[in-house]
Amino acid sequence: MPTIETLEGLLKHELKDLYSAETQIIEALPKMIEAAFNDDLKKALQQHLTVTKKQKQRLDDIQKLLGEEKTKPENKGFFANLFSSNEGEEHCKAMEGLIKEGNRLLGEDMSPEVMDAAIIAAAQKIEHYEISSYGTARAFALQLQLSKVADLLQQTLNEEYEADDLLTELALSDVNLEAELTGEDENDIVLEEKEQPAKKQAPKKAAKKSAAPKKAKAAAKKSNKSKAARGNKK
Ligand code: ZN
Ligand code: FE
Ligand code: FE
Ligand code: FE
Repeated sequence: MPTIETLEGLLKHELKDLYSAETQIIEALPKMIEAAFNDDLKKALQQHLTVTKKQKQRLDDIQKLLGEEKTKPENKGFFANLFSSNEGEEHCKAMEGLIKEGNRLLGEDMSPEVMDAAIIAAAQKIEHYEISSYGTARAFALQLQLSKVADLLQQTLNEEYEADDLLTELALSDVNLEAELTGEDENDIVLEEKEQPAKKQAPKKAAKKSAAPKKAKAAAKKSNKSKAARGNKK
């Protein structure tokens, strides 16, 4: 059955790739958590770090289910251990790229609010890669009638979707709103002059108006750290 063998090989490759991806995410998340300004965003990333560690263990369980442990380094002697990292046998180049790109963005000079929007964007790219990969692996497992493996992959897939949804919620609520308001501080005077004809800015003004109560809320939530950071820039 060459076709099934190929698919099983592909599944195993995908799982090793994901193992590497999760390992890299576990290494990368603390930096993103530290860089995050918004408390809700910090909390969401922290929670996902905990979840991600469990996902890595779950991949170990799946490997065992597939009988992969027989090919692990212990059979290859002492030297094999020297070269095996905690990432496993594969290195996920895609995750390396996503994390590198994210880190480069975190290195830019940004206001705390814009930084949070950038962190959300970087984190969602990572989640989307995982959703795609776990979705594919699960489909392979189903096709191979490995229902237990498929169930475990589905669990992780659900967690990745949850993380992505939470990040979308954060992006649509406080975080991006704060970024927008901070960026437009200099225009506040113009915005008060509501008597002026609307012209091309009309839709933006309408959005501003409905966001006003939230602005007060967001301002109240701001820590001294943010004020200091913004004060330094002026
Ligand atoms: Zn790969
Ligand atoms: Fe994950
Ligand atoms: Fe990959
Ligand atoms: Fe994830």
